[in-house]
Order: sequence, then structure tokens, then C-alpha cells
Amino acid sequence: MKLHEHQTRHLFRKVGIPLNDYRLVHHPSEAGEAAAQWETTVVKAQVLTGGRGKAGGVKLAQGSVEATEKAQDILGLEIKGHKVKALLVCDAAPIEKEHYLGFIVDRSRRAITLMLSAEGGMDIEELAATKPQAIHTLSVVPGESLDSAALEALLNQVFPFPEHQNQAKDTIEKLYNLFMDSDASLLEINPYALTPDGRLLALDGKMVLDDNALHRHPDLMALRNPEEERDDEREAREKNLSFVSLDGSIGCVVNGAGLAMATLDLIKHYGGTPANFLDVGGSSNPQKVTDALSIILRNPQVNALLINIFGGITRCDDIARGLLMAQKELEINVPLVIRLVGTNQEEGRAILEEAGITAGDDLDEAVKAVIAASRSQA
Ligand code: GDP
Ligand code: MN
Repeated sequence: MKLHEHQTRHLFRKVGIPLNDYRLVHHPSEAGEAAAQWETTVVKAQVLTGGRGKAGGVKLAQGSVEATEKAQDILGLEIKGHKVKALLVCDAAPIEKEHYLGFIVDRSRRAITLMLSAEGGMDIEELAATKPQAIHTLSVVPGESLDSAALEALLNQVFPFPEHQNQAKDTIEKLYNLFMDSDASLLEINPYALTPDGRLLALDGKMVLDDNALHRHPDLMALRNPEEERDDEREAREKNLSFVSLDGSIGCVVNGAGLAMATLDLIKHYGGTPANFLDVGGSSNPQKVTDALSIILRNPQVNALLINIFGGITRCDDIARGLLMAQKELEINVPLVIRLVGTNQEEGRAILEEAGITAGDDLDEAVKAVIAASRSQA
């Protein structure tokens, strides 16, 4: 689950991480009012995506009138598909230097990794790609405290002056505790800015929480932003389907999360692009197939369908009945490739064959066929 910058800032404030003053507003006039208290204001789009600056969603303004105008401009924007509905109006900090500071769950190192760079402002992905040596890292065994000596050595490389090292050390420790206490998977401050009067401030905050740990944090769960979830993902969740939307063209209906992952891998392996991850689950309820197909087919990018069922608890005849039901209820006007094996496979195939539908048993063949079908439609 992603948090908005203003939500992350609120948490920063609670744990005592220094930051510039700010107000959350929803109308240009409110932005103007807030801006009246500061000499220079930053008006920032509150959307659940990064790179707002580059997209015109972060603007400096002098005085109320200009802040109102900038707020008006930004409220009309759509940034990477996210409509701007709220703004953060901040007391603009003068910046001498921008740093990057963040913690991530680092699966490759099986650790929590601190990343610190004297080259902030830019996306960390971009920096990692173009100048990885500029990112200093320190890994922590989850739950253990930061190694003080190692942290000091790292701070020495990034901040030339002890007064900055001390401020950064304090903030890093607070950030680490916040990261652990909230079961975050990412927590970053970019820019972590040095002002000309020698203060290090968080001027942006980005936080991603582990959905699987949210049940331990009712206070954080309450921060969930409805706009984070796409309509199709919400509907799938309500219908008990495990569904993740992807950006390809092959719609997938699979039973079992492991098989669904393997199916996506195989589609990619043979050069295709999956439109979704979908696990219809273990139980066999024909309605689920209809629900799944109805959600998938609403995506205009889908130009071919793959149904991959390895029947265990799921029975192939139920899947077949579900498919016929879906065909009656929905307009399936894209090519359909079916791989159906396992429990009651003969019954399942017989049901489909009666309706003139053929099902295969080889997964590689099915994947190659659906990719060819998708290409012929493109
Ligand atoms: P992002 O592009 O979504 O990461 O949004 P940021 O909040 O990081 O803002 C983008 C850029 O705007 C920063 O890298 C800064 O250069 C600039 N910026 C943000 N806040 C301030 C501020 O308080 N003062 C000044 N001078 N620049 C700021
Ligand atoms: Mn930023």
C-alpha cells in the first residue's frame, strides 16, 4: 500500500524527522491562503506516483496570488494516469544541496538496506542505472539495530561536516525505526536537502507498506487511499479472486498462484505479454470463471485469452461449465486457448467439445498458441 506524501510527512513529524512546514489543501484559494504565511511556497500534486517534479506537478510560487495560480494549474493535471485532487502547499526551503536517503526491503541481500547518496533529487532508479557508485549502502539484519560504526563511516563519505553527519545520523535512526515499526517495504526522503543555514530537511517523503503486515497496523490501514486500487482490481478483490493488472495483451485465467506465476513466466519466455495475474483459487465454482473473464475482457488491451487449469481440488468439468456460462453471458470476441488437465479432465473436455471448443493438455503448446493468436490480432 502506497502513502501520499502528506501522509508520510505526518509520520515523519510524529517521529521527529525535521521537515519544512506544510498544509494539505483541495482548492486554489486555500493554497493562496496557506501561501500567505511564507515568502516562497512550493505547490505539490498529491498523487500516488513519483516524478511529479518532471511532470509539472511541483512548482515554486512567490506570494498568494502566484500560489493560487500554480495550484489551479496543478489541480488540472493528470500525472501518469493519476488525476490531481489534492495539493501540498509547503514553506519552500532554500536548497544548497539535494541528497537521497532511503530504506528498502532488499530481497537479494535478505536484508533491510539503507541507501544514501549525495546526488539526490533524481529518481533513485535512474541514479542506480547511470551512476551506481554514487549510492552508498548499508545492510541491516531485519530487527537488529543499525551498526553505529558502519553508519558513521558511511556518513563520512557523504557529508564532509560533523554537524551534518550528526543530523543525518539522527534522522536515519528515526527513519529506520519508522520503517521497522510500520512494516514498510520502502521509505525514502528525496530530496533530503541541506539548507544554506546548515539544516538537513526532508522535502519529500515516499512510503510503501507491506500489505501482508497491514493487519498489525489498524492506524496505517486506515490511511488506504481508494485511488490506489484500479476498478478491476477492486472488483476482483470483492469477488475473492486474486488479481493483479499488468500491461500486456494476453488475458490469463489460472488456478493456483504458483501456476499463475509460472504461466506469466512462460508467456514472457516465448515473447508474449500477459495482461494480468489471476488465480481463480482452489475451489471449483463455475461462477468464478465467469467473474474472472468478465473482469479481464473489460480491458481493451486484451486481444487473446489463455485458460490454464491444472485440476487438483479444482475440477475440470466445473471449469468447463463455467466457461460455457461465461460464453453465454459475455461477448468473448477474442481468441481463446485452453489447457485443461487433472481432476475430471475427460468430463471437462467432453463438455467443451460438445460446444465446439478444443482444450489442449500441453502448457508450452498452449502458451505458444495464445501468443500467435495475440500477434495475429495486434
Ligand atoms: P517528485 O518529483 O515527485 O519526487 O517531487 P519532489 O517533492 O521531490 O520535488 C521535486 C523537486 O522540486 C525536488 O527535487 C526539488 O528540486 C524541488 N523542490 C521540492 N521542494 C522544494 C523546496 O522546498 N524548495 C526548493 N527550492 N525546491 C524544492
Ligand atoms: Mn522526490
